Amino acid sequence: MTNLRTTKDWQAADSAHFLHPFTDFASLAKKGSRIITKAEGIYLWDSEGHKILDAMSGLWCVNVGYGQQSLIDAATRQMKELPFYNAFFQTATPPAIELAELLAEVTPPQFKHVFYSSSGSESNDTIVRMVRRYWDVLGQPERQVIIGRHNGYHGSTMAGASLGGMSGMHAQGGLPIPNIVHIQQPYAFEHGKGMDPDAFGKLAASWLEEKILAVGPEKVAAFIGEPVQGAGGVIVPPKSYWPEIQRICDKYGILLVSDEVICGFGRTGNWFGCETMGSKPDLMTFAKGVTSGYVPLGGVMVGERVAKVLIEQGGEFNHGYTYSGHPVACAVAVANIKLIQQLKLVEHVREDVGPYLAEQFAGLRDHPLVGSVDTCGLMGAILLVKDKAKGLPFPGDLEVGMVCRGHCFGNGLIMRAVGDRMIIAPPLVMTRSQIDEMMALIRQALDLTLADVT
Ligand code: PLP
Repeated sequence: MTNLRTTKDWQAADSAHFLHPFTDFASLAKKGSRIITKAEGIYLWDSEGHKILDAMSGLWCVNVGYGQQSLIDAATRQMKELPFYNAFFQTATPPAIELAELLAEVTPPQFKHVFYSSSGSESNDTIVRMVRRYWDVLGQPERQVIIGRHNGYHGSTMAGASLGGMSGMHAQGGLPIPNIVHIQQPYAFEHGKGMDPDAFGKLAASWLEEKILAVGPEKVAAFIGEPVQGAGGVIVPPKSYWPEIQRICDKYGILLVSDEVICGFGRTGNWFGCETMGSKPDLMTFAKGVTSGYVPLGGVMVGERVAKVLIEQGGEFNHGYTYSGHPVACAVAVANIKLIQQLKLVEHVREDVGPYLAEQFAGLRDHPLVGSVDTCGLMGAILLVKDKAKGLPFPGDLEVGMVCRGHCFGNGLIMRAVGDRMIIAPPLVMTRSQIDEMMALIRQALDLTLADVT
């Protein structure tokens, strides 16, 4: 099929019928999409035959890399055996049960139960339903308010986009929905310039306590955050931040929700980002890396504090999705988690390629455009600045990040631009020599960008 149509044919049909997510439709129709046709390992190929190093793991999800036979076999086997059955009406399927068991094994010890969805957004919708239900059952229905962070990302449904703090999303469609409020993110470049990182982490966490007191502690249900903000630009908080957030949540009895949609399944060098950052959440949302993106699956890990109340006192929980516990998705997730274990990918990130990436990124600091670098496990960000000495950003209308992203594409590298932060989250199977290859492409793109802006 792919070979029968030219790139131009695909582009014409695409712009005639396909409205892409987070896209200016008219502008894409003028340019035409890049058509991705196949993948293997950490590489993609487009319809013109160009090979591209995928430093974003698709969309932060292909943790085990492309073309893993055990995942393909698991999907094929399950599709033949039982392609679908639901988990409503007191039924279950073996893959959904097996995955629930396996998740209880790889997640922190407070988690023994899972509620399935099909995406990160749905999982965060479930969070809103579940935390409010928890407080209702406990006889505190006034605890409705959930606190998120500006520039956090928790998905694109009404609740997900509301929990997130993306101003562009809030500007469309009357968001956030009621009883969701936000505090400032722990981003030192914007909010803590020149401060000692430890002191800044504590300051940023203190904004949570301020907000709790402003809302009224008796009205606050939960705080939600990504261990490392991904879509916001790989904002790695100072080490002091999450333990202090934990302390504040404990002090007021507020539920702590860790959105592990990006950070889960090895990305930060532990199974979950909360383990790297030192928090003990009551609830965790996951998606993406649970199946390495081969098929859609998401869910909420429900800690014993919440599970006990819902199970023992909650009665029927009036919430669920047709595809909660989809057998094919769960079978692929089981194969994916077993592969992560077998290849020791978490240790590979923590002990080998994570530290190596950190070293290589630190080496970029000598580049005239690079204001700062951040890494955490196998995710990283490079901040492009106009004046390194003064830490001055480029004027926004130059869109320097987009210029750099264009050069990456041109060179066969996928990096994402968030403002002037160039970010990566490559597949966890990446080797040191592939990191070297990626670094050479990044340097080339930075040099070409520098030539454009000076
Ligand atoms: N939460 C986080 C931290 C994410 O990064 C994303 C997506 O990028 C989501 C939630 C939403 O997930 P999905 O796009 O699967 O709905």
